[in-house]
Amino acid sequence: MHAFDYSFELEDYITKEDFERLKEFSKDKETPFVVVLLKTVARKYDELRAAMPYAKIYYAIKANPHEEVLKLLIERGSCFDIASIYELDLMLELGAAPDRLSYGNTIKKARDIRYAYEKGVRLFASDSESDVRKLAANAPGSDVFFRILSDGAGADWPLSRKFGAHPEVVFDNILLAREVGLRPRGISFHVGSQQNDVTQWRVALKTCHKIFEEAADKGIKLDLINMGGGLPARYVHPVEETCVYMAEITDYLREFFGVFDEEFPDVIVEPGRYMAGDAGVLVSEVVMIAQKEHEGRPWLFLDIGKFGGLIETIEESIRYPVYTERKGEARDYVVAGPTCDSMDVLYETNPCRLPISLEEGDRVYLFTTGAYTQTYSAVFFNGFPPLKVYVMDDLPRETA
Ligand SMILES: *Cc1c(COP(=O)(O)O)cnc(C)c1O
Repeated sequence: MHAFDYSFELEDYITKEDFERLKEFSKDKETPFVVVLLKTVARKYDELRAAMPYAKIYYAIKANPHEEVLKLLIERGSCFDIASIYELDLMLELGAAPDRLSYGNTIKKARDIRYAYEKGVRLFASDSESDVRKLAANAPGSDVFFRILSDGAGADWPLSRKFGAHPEVVFDNILLAREVGLRPRGISFHVGSQQNDVTQWRVALKTCHKIFEEAADKGIKLDLINMGGGLPARYVHPVEETCVYMAEITDYLREFFGVFDEEFPDVIVEPGRYMAGDAGVLVSEVVMIAQKEHEGRPWLFLDIGKFGGLIETIEESIRYPVYTERKGEARDYVVAGPTCDSMDVLYETNPCRLPISLEEGDRVYLFTTGAYTQTYSAVFFNGFPPLKVYVMDDLPRETA
């Protein structure tokens, strides 16, 4: 058993000034809650835009659907990956045009497809014959891209076999789509969330290229590559800078699809975690510190746990940086949540190294909690309310 080295600096995650502002902003609020720094979302969007000027960004709403986050991205010109009619309604209410929405969930009811079509959505993901037939009947003539399987190797939060199909199945579905009057546009993939191995994009793009060629042989000109999500946020392990990832991925695109000219396929990216993860700080309180055996590690119970929104700590997959303002000699703590369920333990195999001086009632900050936290929080388990989110509007504004 190895303790993670939690000896990071505050400023690896947030500037001192922003942290002071966050503390001021949150001092009278009851924990637990996430504070989203809008400025960070804006910076992540702009960095991606600059690094991949040729790509269209479709933000994956599920990562963080806070209205202020969505409005900011609408203003900046982002498009959106929606997975349900509820996300669709939300985006339309906020004023996003339907031609900026892609229905990226391959698992859809016929009536939901019809609803989206009636609202003006014309771009859909698909990975099965059944879905292609439902699309043909309920969203006639729409653009469709086809998702290929990815094994999720290298990802901290892999998406396994639930989505996508084998290239041969995809190829059959492309032919079928043409037959039933849809417009087969291209291929999509998702290399797995929090993907640490950039070469996984190359593996997927190679398959895309092969399918493009085979389709061309049948007289179908595919012209869309949807590279999905997977771009990492910064948890305990440092990740490459955005520009390094993007430069690699751009090289892979060129390797298989040649120079950027009119013939180059349209490229879509669907960041979720990348866009929102780094922008969130979860403010929590120490409920109890307890010794279970005379020897052995003390247990640190927080007022946030797996059911409060940190479900991605399952198998300790996602390692959130845990920060306290206490200093001095440190020891390893098992960290657990407050509910009466024994799975509500965050870090035991990989305990957290935190100061001995930590006390009950102290505030503890979990960084990189802007994505997949509130949306994953349970409703009313043990009576705890769902995780609250506040937005700190720290965007630079022009003053009149
Ligand atoms: C969840 C999801 C994403 C976002 O994935 P991240 O790894 O968070 O970037 C993108 N596309 C689709 C289809 C998704 O389901």
